[in-house]
Amino acid sequence: MQFSIKSLLIYTLLATSGGGNPLIAQSGFDADRAFDDLVTQCDFGTREPNSPGAKAALQFYKTTLAELADTVHMQNFQLDDPYSDGQLKLTNVIARFQPEKAQRIILCAHWDTRPRAEYDSYFPEKAIIGANDGASGVAVLLEIARQLKSNPTNPGIDIILFDGEDYGEPRDLQHYLLGSRYYVEHPYLPMAQQVILLDMVGDAQLDLKIDPVSYQSAPKVMEEIWTLGAEMGYDQFQLVVGASMYDDHVPFIEKGIKAIDIIDFEYPGPDNRYWHTHDDTPDKCSPESLEAVGNTVLSWLYLQ
Ligand SMILES: [Zn+2]
Repeated sequence: MQFSIKSLLIYTLLATSGGGNPLIAQSGFDADRAFDDLVTQCDFGTREPNSPGAKAALQFYKTTLAELADTVHMQNFQLDDPYSDGQLKLTNVIARFQPEKAQRIILCAHWDTRPRAEYDSYFPEKAIIGANDGASGVAVLLEIARQLKSNPTNPGIDIILFDGEDYGEPRDLQHYLLGSRYYVEHPYLPMAQQVILLDMVGDAQLDLKIDPVSYQSAPKVMEEIWTLGAEMGYDQFQLVVGASMYDDHVPFIEKGIKAIDIIDFEYPGPDNRYWHTHDDTPDKCSPESLEAVGNTVLSWLYLQ
């Protein structure tokens, strides 16, 4: 993910007054199991396109989701590598719950990790392990998938793990978001009406601010989720404006589909010093952060 090159849009976000009934988390989201899934992915090694770690991770996603979803699709596609003469073999993983339903929500994250670490002081050319930037969003979604199997929601859900989100060289924005760009051109139907993207949600010092790009697309959903999270006692949800994100939600917005990005782009703090470095490792992440996001999103889904 990159900063949006568009100018930062400023919104006045009106914090909805409390007053409602305090919500008790009923979802059963198991934060320790989610964190195990984060570590498991990192144990496969770096997961950039064409790597052995990517192959192992894909097998893990397929095996795990096949037992949970109604259908699982491995959407394979190839692109010319913009930085070599080779081909990139890419795969989006699509796990569908109640695929017959017309009312649908996509929950998504990118599963690939960056083939370089441009902000690392020592090894900028080496691929990163991506505990937060890659594994964290997927870990939350795998645990949500377990909950959806035992306790279905009213809308149909598509859990999509995108490949190639983080492939581009710095500022070469057209070579980011490869999987989500491909998906919006080749979707499984019926297409969802709402997209919720999770990225960099594992930071142990989690501060979830409002991405203006997301807010412009779906202000009501953002206010609902942020308010719900706060009411559930997760003070990681902060109804304040953060940086504009250029992430996997953007191709959907460009197609006219409401899409939001739940992201903490301050890892661990405003200097973002672990981002795109070899310090993006599981010890910088926490089960509590995965729970804050997973339990809130799941609880919101059960209200739909
Ligand atoms: Zn990244």
